Amino acid sequence: MEIKRVCAVCGNEFTARNHNAKYCSYECVKIHNRVKNQRLRQEQAKTPKQSREHNLNRTLYNLHKYNEENGTRLSYGQYRAKIETGEIAI
Ligand SMILES: [Zn+2]
Repeated sequence: MEIKRVCAVCGNEFTARNHNAKYCSYECVKIHNRVKNQRLRQEQAKTPKQSREHNLNRTLYNLHKYNEENGTRLSYGQYRAKIETGEIAI
């Protein structure tokens, strides 16, 4: 039995080989995946929470490195204060 479907990407009618098929060709599957990934990336870029976390992680990493290199035991707050006064250049 042949299943006639309309491709969700290019709109061409095609014969589906199984009930789950939504796209007429591998090319259209690739296009669909690319669009989906782009949308995901855009949404992630828009989320401020994630970028804040990223910045925090980077600061903590730099703090750890600074303490290692200088033999200090600065807390996060002390480290931030030194950045703000310009004592530590980032
Ligand atoms: Zn197609």
